[in-house]
Amino acid sequence: MVKKVSVGFFPTPLQYLSNLSKEFGYNLYVKRDDFTGPNLFGGNKIRKLEYLAYDAIKQGADTLITFGATQSNHAMETAVVARKLGLNVILYLEVINEPDPQNDKGNILLDKIFGAKIHYVSMKGLTEQKADEIALKQAKKEKEKLKKQGHQAYLIPVGGANVVGSTGFAYGYQELKEQMKSQFKQQPDFIFHSSGTGGTAAGLIAGIRAFSENGQEPRLYSINVSPKPDTHAAKIAKLATGVLVHMGSRKVVTATDLHFDFNYFGAGYEVPTPQASATIRKVARTEGFLLDPVYTAKGFTGMLDYLKKGRIPKNSNVVFWHTGGISGLFAEKQIVGKLY
Ligand SMILES: *Cc1c(COP(=O)(O)O)cnc(C)c1O
Repeated sequence: MVKKVSVGFFPTPLQYLSNLSKEFGYNLYVKRDDFTGPNLFGGNKIRKLEYLAYDAIKQGADTLITFGATQSNHAMETAVVARKLGLNVILYLEVINEPDPQNDKGNILLDKIFGAKIHYVSMKGLTEQKADEIALKQAKKEKEKLKKQGHQAYLIPVGGANVVGSTGFAYGYQELKEQMKSQFKQQPDFIFHSSGTGGTAAGLIAGIRAFSENGQEPRLYSINVSPKPDTHAAKIAKLATGVLVHMGSRKVVTATDLHFDFNYFGAGYEVPTPQASATIRKVARTEGFLLDPVYTAKGFTGMLDYLKKGRIPKNSNVVFWHTGGISGLFAEKQIVGKLY
């Protein structure tokens, strides 16, 4: 086992969705990573950060620096993990939707409660890639400055998506597989989740490859929340193979093992869609749990569309991996959209 620190609550619950299963004619389950803790607003980044923080501390770091949008769940969860471990935290937040400093919402409010040092990175006239480059350059400069003051900073990429972080999701898949067996005497046939950087997808596919016997692998469908270049699947396959190497496995992942779907994010990242808003209502009013507008509602919408169109054989065991993000329901109005 690759080593980690312990901050979250694992295993997270695995729940059978009795009402939606009956309605659609499938066995639907949800892996509740919205319950990773250690507070109500946990999510999928906690799994990655337990491995990243271990690595940071091992290297002697006393400060975590990371990147994301102003309403980034990953940035907020990095602040949580840093605080629990007695580390300082610095966030570089790209302004896609302008926050109101007089009325902090969602994750910005939480970042400030956790006492993170925040730098806003303007996106005006910049592509996402260019803004990322600028933020990284500034962060490296700050790291150098901190070094002169006797501090050691550890840089975590957007979404915690690298070999160390994604390893958390390979072991996450092992956790799911054991739960399906002990709780329901079943194996997962299909797994759906919402995908951003691809770090979660990389970890899950690595875990599927590492922990499946006789080629009996569930198929992973990753529903994207933002556009990506054509090279995305190849890049994530490479990351997944890196995770397998890190775990001591000699198995590999190729681009054809990954199934990214770009049909459900609408106009873009942090832009609500009427379909996702309807899914939030549907799930709330049939199963009594919540999805967020930026990530999980778009992913769940994709999954329901696959079921409705018969793209998945009836009565299959279909797992939706709930990656969290609930603070997104309390973000700026233009991110939340029209929910009722
Ligand atoms: C970050 C995030 C994702 C996507 O995870 P990646 O590893 O970046 O693909 C999905 N859901 C929520 C709620 C997230 O915060």
